[in-house]
Amino acid sequence: MATKRDYYEVLGVPKNASEDELKKAYRKLAMKYHPDRNQGDAAKAAEEKFKEAKEAYEMLSDGDKRAAYDQHGHAGVDPNMRGPGGEAYGGFADAFGDIFGDIFGQQRGGGRGGRQVYRGSDLSYAMEVTLEEAAAGKEAQIRIPSWDSCDTCHGSGAKPGTKPITCTTCNGQGSVQMRQGFFSVQQTCPQCRGTGKIIPEPCPTCHGQGKVKNNKTLEVKIPAGIDDGMRIRSTGNGEPGTNGGPPGDLYIEIRLKKHAVFERDGDDLHCVVPIAVTTAALGGEIEVPTLGGSAAIDIPEGTQAGKQFRLRGKGIKGVRSSYPGDLYCHIAVETPVKLTEHQRKLMKELDESLKKGGAKHHPSDASWADRLKNLFS
Ligand SMILES: [Zn+2]
Ligand SMILES: [Zn+2]
Repeated sequence: MATKRDYYEVLGVPKNASEDELKKAYRKLAMKYHPDRNQGDAAKAAEEKFKEAKEAYEMLSDGDKRAAYDQHGHAGVDPNMRGPGGEAYGGFADAFGDIFGDIFGQQRGGGRGGRQVYRGSDLSYAMEVTLEEAAAGKEAQIRIPSWDSCDTCHGSGAKPGTKPITCTTCNGQGSVQMRQGFFSVQQTCPQCRGTGKIIPEPCPTCHGQGKVKNNKTLEVKIPAGIDDGMRIRSTGNGEPGTNGGPPGDLYIEIRLKKHAVFERDGDDLHCVVPIAVTTAALGGEIEVPTLGGSAAIDIPEGTQAGKQFRLRGKGIKGVRSSYPGDLYCHIAVETPVKLTEHQRKLMKELDESLKKGGAKHHPSDASWADRLKNLFS
């Protein structure tokens, strides 16, 4: 018989390793030598490695045994000595219970040997809001699915006059030990799907579910400043859990409707304001829309197309903002159309007059002409 390897060496940890370090090292090895990852020829060697690691971990994770081992080495401990009811190398599931409990436990929830408890699924609900509603916030009522205990069977799922019986496959545990190679792992009972009960004659109303789907009205508060794509969580209004597991949540997803005048960019708003060419040239006061009504802008003489006017604080106060954003009015100068003979004549007179005045009336045009000249010379 080959000499036994040092337990610390087996786990690859120092002599003063903490319990946590031991557990981590063992878990790593157990994953590495898992039968799912070691098929065929490698399986046999992996099994040996696993047994070796398991023994080392069991010895070192037990304070008394570790002390004895530290003092006397392998002579100080005998892995075949077990407490009452213990078995030598059958209890892989126990190792899994301890070591993999937090890995496999994600869907197990109810703990070892308990009935399978599942959290219900989350639901999502798309809600369209107008820009005005988003800015001001609103109280909305939505219809969402809800589940009520079935009146016919009072939630048992069994046809009236009959009763659910304990699942014989798992003896009501909801989980069974399944052998995978030399491992045995705990799995949800395939017979009762984790409920621990079998319903021989299902209730005709709920088909054995014990609950029936209805609709209910939910009051939802949409906070002022909400924006497109944001989600509001309504805790516990998702699907119900299984076997007393907690319900999922409901997520309300906000879709912002397109607005006829304003475009939103975060907390700022933008709009295009057309003005007459005469207003642009002569200046004047114009009225512009805001979300809260209207405001006046002073257009200075000689305003060019594309000029922006910012109205401070006339944007939207975001959900997490301390101040509202701004409203940007983008000026579009409109060329007059459908001129009368008289207007055409005036336009021509104006044109001649402007030409006489030279470049000073059209500084951009002049600098543009200069740039073109440079380009082609
Ligand atoms: Zn029922
Ligand atoms: Zn079962």
